[in-house]
Amino acid sequence: MIFAETPTNPMMKVLPLRALSALAKAHGALFAVDNTFLTPYYQRPLTLGADIVVHSGTKFLSGHHDVCCGLAVVGEDPALADRLALIQRTLGNALSPFDSWLTLRGIQTLPLRMEKHSANALAAANYLAAHPRVAQVNYPGLPSHPQYGLLREQASGAGGVLSFLLADDRVQSVLHGGKLIRFAESLGGTTSLITYPQTQTHASVPASLREKIGITPRLLRLSVGLEHPDDLLEDLETMLK
Ligand SMILES: *Cc1c(COP(=O)(O)O)cnc(C)c1O
Repeated sequence: MIFAETPTNPMMKVLPLRALSALAKAHGALFAVDNTFLTPYYQRPLTLGADIVVHSGTKFLSGHHDVCCGLAVVGEDPALADRLALIQRTLGNALSPFDSWLTLRGIQTLPLRMEKHSANALAAANYLAAHPRVAQVNYPGLPSHPQYGLLREQASGAGGVLSFLLADDRVQSVLHGGKLIRFAESLGGTTSLITYPQTQTHASVPASLREKIGITPRLLRLSVGLEHPDDLLEDLETMLK
């Protein structure tokens, strides 16, 4: 199986879904895509050649920081669907009724939330890109992003997550300096969260590999919530003082 995540967490690289699908098919492999960051509202990997799409429903799909949930979706392949259903039945990892209900309820406002997450993320990305304490912003909705064109070919929006590289080592005051933007590991909920990949999400990745893919001590990830953009930018200003 080729397993891809696009945009990647936390570097926000965009991977070519159609090309990866062709590569998998040429080798008789399945092609699976983690679509957590963009959700089906912005990106539909099954229409671009994926066999399986997985989501952390914990994030944008449920969207309110109150569910732990995962989904695997298959296209027109009943045998593959049966295999996954068998795994789910035998491992007993079906979601509880209440968590299922919360997730379904979250999905009802997915389009509204994704539009707002994206608009806020673009505002934050532009603000950060112009800030003297920020050396680099990774957000595929910025025309300066190396795969801006590719994203526009295969997705209809850039979503609510970005990462950025501080120009100095004063990381802790940025992580803890916000009033609205909380220091926490998750993403995709109503509230903006700032994450330190090196010690949180990617702590289990060997240091040499982290360095190689750009997860350095100055890299921070921001999940942009549904706050008023003025409040959001004011909080970023305070954090970066
Ligand atoms: C959070 C996350 C996961 C893991 O999902 P959980 O719901 O936390 O188990 C997988 N992929 C991506 C891209 C994520 O952001």
